[in-house]
Amino acid sequence: MQPHAAAFKDSKFGPLWIDQDARPERQAHLTDSVSCELLIVGGGFTGLWAALQARERRPDLDIVLIEATEIGDGASGRNGGFLKSSLVHGDNNGEFHFPGEEDLMEELGRQNMREFISSLGKYKIDARYEGTGEIEVNLRPDQNAESEEWVEELREEGRDVVWLDKEAMQSEVHSPTYMGGVWDRQGQDGVIDPAYLCWGLKRVIQELGVRVFEGTPLNRMDRKGDGMEVECDHGRITCQKIVIATNAFRNPVKRARRRVIPVWDHVVATEPLNDEQMKSLGWKGRQGLGDNLNMFHYYRLTHDNRIVWGGGTSVAYRYGSQTHGVGGDSPALFEKNYRDLIETFPQLSGVRITHRWSGIIASTTRFCMTPGTAFDGRVAWSVGYTGLGVGATRFGARVALELLGYDPTDILQLQMVQRESLAWPPEPVRWPAVHFTMKEMARADRNAGRRGLWLKLLDRLNLGFAC
Ligand SMILES: Cc1cc2nc3c(=O)[nH]c(=O)nc-3n(C[C@H](O)[C@H](O)[C@H](O)COP(=O)(O)OP(=O)(O)OC[C@H]3O[C@@H](n4cnc5c(N)ncnc54)[C@H](O)[C@@H]3O)c2cc1C
Repeated sequence: MQPHAAAFKDSKFGPLWIDQDARPERQAHLTDSVSCELLIVGGGFTGLWAALQARERRPDLDIVLIEATEIGDGASGRNGGFLKSSLVHGDNNGEFHFPGEEDLMEELGRQNMREFISSLGKYKIDARYEGTGEIEVNLRPDQNAESEEWVEELREEGRDVVWLDKEAMQSEVHSPTYMGGVWDRQGQDGVIDPAYLCWGLKRVIQELGVRVFEGTPLNRMDRKGDGMEVECDHGRITCQKIVIATNAFRNPVKRARRRVIPVWDHVVATEPLNDEQMKSLGWKGRQGLGDNLNMFHYYRLTHDNRIVWGGGTSVAYRYGSQTHGVGGDSPALFEKNYRDLIETFPQLSGVRITHRWSGIIASTTRFCMTPGTAFDGRVAWSVGYTGLGVGATRFGARVALELLGYDPTDILQLQMVQRESLAWPPEPVRWPAVHFTMKEMARADRNAGRRGLWLKLLDRLNLGFAC
């Protein structure tokens, strides 16, 4: 057996987050015909926050939430748990796609984050939040000059961002691969336990009277009278309005479907590290870490001192936008992640992996959420957070509710809301285009960041690929 394969010997296939004692019982599936005013389809963060905010806006609203499998079974129970305030996947992306609204989007992101954290307190949701900030690590010395300049600019704007040179970075977290790093300490960014957040939100919405049916996929929907009718496996739902919160999964509205592609990401979690292993890492600040690559890794500590590690070249798109089964048990991709982890922290050589899992990221051509409406405004969606949805889904849920007419505000005038993202090309062009782009990005990473002609062209059109 290869040494890396041995580390996986007793590992489980399934998210660490979901495999915890606090996992609540599944709610029964729909067995009958029911009616409600607002139906929410999808029990990830978007759907759960939509239910909570709808209840906050309209205490008497009759709300039903249906989830195809189990609350948190999609990306929301499978992610890295990095909580960030950006709604637009970083400043540069926001500047390009929503010119003139950078400051506004930033302020809305901060406001969303304040309300997010305050909801955790108000509803006593223990999401194991740690406000650690995040460090973006340089693995090549040639990246340092640009990073230092960037830090200076941000500090002039009054932001709490620190430049760590090679020595400072390696003393913060002990990896021989680190050449420098940017520690973003501002605001309330940090890490959470994503399943704890899903389960906390599920408890709260049920306490507030939202009816939740798990194991209940929407199969079909259509107009009925002045509302909508939805067909599920074992029953029907008539309602006035619908929030579609299915993100990377097949959207029932074709127009929305064409704007999102599912990108599979693969994650591993180590056994809890012992005191000696923790000491060998430093990492006293417990920050979320990500490397400054096109195909970047992200990793963090959990409450019981495991490392959760994902991303890198384990990211994959499957022909025909496959999402089914949320399977993706691909030993080669998990082992690739393990190799990268041990290369970063050679002192952990031999550490065992207890969990390996995959999940689907909903990527749009503008790398952040795209909302929309159909059926004369009776149906709204917010989908496509492209790898940065732990915080942004709360805002996405708000947008969808306001699009349905629940106390609209001027966020509906934002470019992000007024303009949908461009559609992805259909197959058979989609797979080769995405696959080739990912290969080129990995090649640029191996080649000291030098971008080939294809990436340069995409950069020019701001159609590069991110996840
Ligand atoms: C591996 C991975 C790592 C990530 N890491 C981070 C991170 O560290 N930080 C960050 O900010 N973001 C991260 N993300 C992105 C983030 O997890 C997502 O943006 C966010 O969870 C999206 O939430 P959602 O509710 O919109 O979608 P989902 O959580 O995918 O929920 C959609 C739900 O809809 C259900 N559904 C689908 N079809 C139907 C149907 N027909 N009827 C009923 N229900 C249906 C699904 O079962 C699913 O539960 C990561 C994503 C992945 C996959």
